[in-house]
Amino acid sequence: MSKFIVFGHKNPDSDSICSAISYAYLLNQTGHEATAYALGAPSEETAYALNAFQMDAPQVIEKAADVAGADTLLALVDHNEAQQSLDDRADFRIWSIVDHHRIANIETVEPLYYRAEVVGCTSTILYKMYNEQGVDIPKNIAGLMLSAIISDTLLMKSPTCTPEDEAAIIALAAIAGVDYQTYGLELLKAGTNLSSKSCEELLNLDAKSFPMGSASVRIAQVNTVDVNDVLTRKAEFEALMNKACADEGYVLSVLLITNILDSNSTALVCGSEAGKIEDAFGVKVADGLAELAGVVSRKKQVVPPLTKAFEG
Ligand code: MN
Ligand code: MN
Repeated sequence: MSKFIVFGHKNPDSDSICSAISYAYLLNQTGHEATAYALGAPSEETAYALNAFQMDAPQVIEKAADVAGADTLLALVDHNEAQQSLDDRADFRIWSIVDHHRIANIETVEPLYYRAEVVGCTSTILYKMYNEQGVDIPKNIAGLMLSAIISDTLLMKSPTCTPEDEAAIIALAAIAGVDYQTYGLELLKAGTNLSSKSCEELLNLDAKSFPMGSASVRIAQVNTVDVNDVLTRKAEFEALMNKACADEGYVLSVLLITNILDSNSTALVCGSEAGKIEDAFGVKVADGLAELAGVVSRKKQVVPPLTKAFEG
């Protein structure tokens, strides 16, 4: 029997780690042999969720070849784009993808199962798959899927949140035996403990690279309850972001500082194409900063207008 390795994107968020565990469990319950892995260590938010439901963090891998044999199959969650994935994934067969992002930079040699839905979280799709396949959801898996959906939808406040995400939150909270409002706020707050982290760590905590037109753009995001507290380290962030632009060839590097209490973001902007932020959002960048009112979702509210600004 072929073995599956299940993994989410680099710089894993709670969805990438919790969905990898939950999808591996589902595959194991339906006649496959699957193991969840992560392409990075869990964030404090994810660690809070794993601890709350007494689950171990998946083993971190950098290359599929570290754990895979020639006939190992890849099962991707929460991403599809090559630059967000395992660097050597082209050496292996992708069996399935469960995702809720734009589709870009992916080509396969062989057919695959591809489940993409316009919902707020991969775990919402997995919740539906459990139901479709008649697989019972254990309490701890329900807790992880709940955590992923709360994280991705900012406790239903993100515009990416759909009625299906809300229904999944309510159902999974009942299975997990928690009050989702109380638990959700604690979970999100666990992810806002930024003071213990270096600027470099914060810039890589939840960061993704995107090809836009012929350019490469880096967008990092941190959640906070105090934007000004994050900005006390502005100069240090800018130095690192400018260095990344020079070293990695990004024409634009953005740090999206999102206030989870009022659902607004401040963008710290570096790079030769920083003006694209003005084009995309109709705002002024002053002293490297732009106020993005009501913006909490990189995927839905930042990447599309920015891509449009680059592709004209
Ligand atoms: Mn994700
Ligand atoms: Mn996600």
